[in-house]
Amino acid sequence: MSVLSVVLPAYNEELIVAKTCRVLNEVLSEAGIDYELVLVDDGSRDKTWEEITRAGRKDHRILGVHFSRNFGKEAAVFAGLAQATGDVVAVMDCDLQHPPQTLIEMYRLWKDGYEVIEGVKKSRGKESFLHKKSAGFFYGIMTKATKVDMQNASDFKMMDRKAVDSILAMPERNMFFRATSSWVGYRTAYVEFEVQEREAGESKWSTWSLIKYAFTNIVAFTTLPLQFVTIAGTICFICSMILVIYSLVQYFLGHTVAGYTTTLIVLLLIGSAVMMSLGVIGYYIARIYEEVKRRPRYIISKIIRGSKDISDEVNPDIK
Ligand code: UDP
Ligand code: MG
Repeated sequence: MSVLSVVLPAYNEELIVAKTCRVLNEVLSEAGIDYELVLVDDGSRDKTWEEITRAGRKDHRILGVHFSRNFGKEAAVFAGLAQATGDVVAVMDCDLQHPPQTLIEMYRLWKDGYEVIEGVKKSRGKESFLHKKSAGFFYGIMTKATKVDMQNASDFKMMDRKAVDSILAMPERNMFFRATSSWVGYRTAYVEFEVQEREAGESKWSTWSLIKYAFTNIVAFTTLPLQFVTIAGTICFICSMILVIYSLVQYFLGHTVAGYTTTLIVLLLIGSAVMMSLGVIGYYIARIYEEVKRRPRYIISKIIRGSKDISDEVNPDIK
């Protein structure tokens, strides 16, 4: 009998974790699927960890991982994948925005021999106008830059043990999970799902964090922005050549060139292009610096399985 691990990253979700565990238990038990729930508390500042331990006391199939601080969702997902013991592992948000029933459909597809099953959003659910627009904009940029459809991609996925191990074997610290699962390849199926409304608590994404997210992930996944630097340089060069020819022609025709304004404009143009390019390069260097430091992706302070504290046994070989 194969076991399904469900990885649930949770950050300040005290209002909903217990319910999520209950709903998943109902749905998966009814479908006769043997499972474990891997709840990763991403350094929540509320009572999320207390809720997880309480749920664990009632259900031995709950594995709780507690981070020493907030490391971000990607790190939480990664830790969950590393601790999951199942033959097949699903990743979903713990706010019930990813419908648990879809897990059953994904599981069937896995049984049919698919190794990566990607959840695809049918619509984006209810969001404020501004959030929808800004999210649309940044996912648009990310889709172009990473060549993976980001508009409807989600972190809701199911993966065979083989795919999970492939992802765990990747050495980079800055992982962009959503695109990485498609990068590893394998036989892939897609399942559409309707994003549900968040039942309790609030979204952790502000417009600013979306901008940061877009930038970090583009840089983590592709070097395309570095090529923009070359393109911008080429355009500048062409423009300046045209200006040189124009000035020379004017000079030989005996006209005086309107020097001051043109010089100023050219100077400003080139200056800003150079600074922006340096910024992009600097961003990559910062990433390289972070990668070579080989800091752990996350630090686990505690692990429980059911009602037992297994922090010592597991010795979470910190990645
Ligand atoms: N999350 C996390 N760490 C963070 C931010 C979010 O583990 O730093 C989790 C959060 O608890 C939830 C999931 O990531 O389970 C998605 O977050 P959220 O619902 O805020 O995002 P949205 O659904 O609005 O895109
Ligand atoms: Mg959510």
